[in-house]
Amino acid sequence: AAEEGFDLEDVEGAIEAAGHGPLPVLAVVGRPNVGKSTLVNRIIGRREAVVEDKPGVTRDRVTYEAEWAGRRFKVVDTGGWEQDVLGIDASVAAQAEYAIEAADAVVFVVDAKVGATDTDEAVVRLLRKAGKPVVLCANKVDGPSGEADAAYLWSLGLGEPYPVSALHGRGTGDMLDQVLEVLPEAPAQTFGGAVGGPRRVALIGRPNVGKSSLLNKVAGEERVVVNELAGTTRDPVDEMIELGGKTWKFVDTAGIRKRVHLQQGADYYASLRTAAAVEKAEVAVVLIDAADSISVQDQRIVTMAVEAGRALVLAYNKWDTLDEERRYYLEREIETELGQVAWAPRVNVSARTGRHMEKLVPAIETALEGWETRVPTGRLNAFLGELVAAHPHPVRGGKQPRILFGTQAGTRPPRFVLFASGFIEAGYRRFIERRLREEFGFEGTPIHISVRVRE
Ligand code: GDP
Ligand code: GDP
Repeated sequence: AAEEGFDLEDVEGAIEAAGHGPLPVLAVVGRPNVGKSTLVNRIIGRREAVVEDKPGVTRDRVTYEAEWAGRRFKVVDTGGWEQDVLGIDASVAAQAEYAIEAADAVVFVVDAKVGATDTDEAVVRLLRKAGKPVVLCANKVDGPSGEADAAYLWSLGLGEPYPVSALHGRGTGDMLDQVLEVLPEAPAQTFGGAVGGPRRVALIGRPNVGKSSLLNKVAGEERVVVNELAGTTRDPVDEMIELGGKTWKFVDTAGIRKRVHLQQGADYYASLRTAAAVEKAEVAVVLIDAADSISVQDQRIVTMAVEAGRALVLAYNKWDTLDEERRYYLEREIETELGQVAWAPRVNVSARTGRHMEKLVPAIETALEGWETRVPTGRLNAFLGELVAAHPHPVRGGKQPRILFGTQAGTRPPRFVLFASGFIEAGYRRFIERRLREEFGFEGTPIHISVRVRE
């Protein structure tokens, strides 16, 4: 490294930064209009329009990356819920339940100007039951005169209320310091399980693609129809299912079992559920209705799994209904709409007839294997050396940036750091990713490549 002009400390720092494991998850919950989205905006420190002025706008992005005092974590915003869909109490409970389930710690936001309401009390009961660490945010304390309002919230029994103005930033630093006190370094749920325990699978996909049918098929049970609203009954959230001679943990299946039919807000509800399941899983099986056109919603769900860095399997369902013409068009659609995840193993199944169910487990295993692949540094550099010699980076402004060396900083998913003598263009990065995949497989896994440029 030193001979190539890199400081050893820089190199170690870059490898450590790139090799970080999955990040812990912080959920921000509370009643509508208490300022959750404003607070999330503040925490992620971006001007990105998380707060929508238009009522009734549903969002599908619910997870954001944040950093405070040098620590990185994910924030789940539950502010997008359309409040009048289920009635306030039920909707707040439902969103809070999902978010808390997926979280390692929770910020509970209360409007200090209004004080604690019955709905707030209901959320407190959920929080108690979940037993996750909680930081109480007394929001809308815009000045010193509001601090007395915040003090009233001691009555909730959640410890010290942190007076905050999400809008102006007042007090958010102290609150975030407390968040870091209680937030574990690594996500307990996702990767805290004993090594060698059952692998965690998230079965996701847009409504009506056949998730519940597939789950019932693989679980060998009759369909369970639950008409109650989410959050009002407690199904076991995860299910252990025997498949291919192994036990698998299908996470967050309660959301699949509960047949919640909603008009407005259903998209957001589905997104939150999907995000929660993805966070808890190692591998996502995205179910796609092969009989129907591949939609933007399908793409978003795939993107959620990829961005979360999970292993990925694509399962095309309802294969029993496809005629030759549809099969032809489906292949074209897959190429154009899902070409960016051509690396994911694919199975064509029918939850109705049981077609190709036996191919699901090998596909999941392949994806997990890719996800955990580690390329020894020697092999990686031999490969990079040959690649760079055969296909050098194009000359730009009279200079030719070169990849000097690289290392794999982490797995689950594979993360690489490449050290370069100059700026490496996006096209060349993609070329390297493509060649890495050709050489080392990585079937079913996203891979991360970061490039460090010599000063
Ligand atoms: P959510 O429904 O809980 O996500 O709430 P929003 O973040 O959308 O905020 C609801 C309203 O409260 C918006 O009009 C915000 O501008 C306002 N608001 C949020 N935080 C504060 C705050 O700290 N002080 C004041 N005065 N208003 C706030
Ligand atoms: P979910 O909303 O993703 O859980 O979807 P469901 O499992 O409730 O399925 C939605 C509809 O698609 C139901 O009417 C199912 O009977 C039907 N369905 C699910 N899988 C298949 C399949 O493989 N073939 C056919 N023909 N129909 C299916």
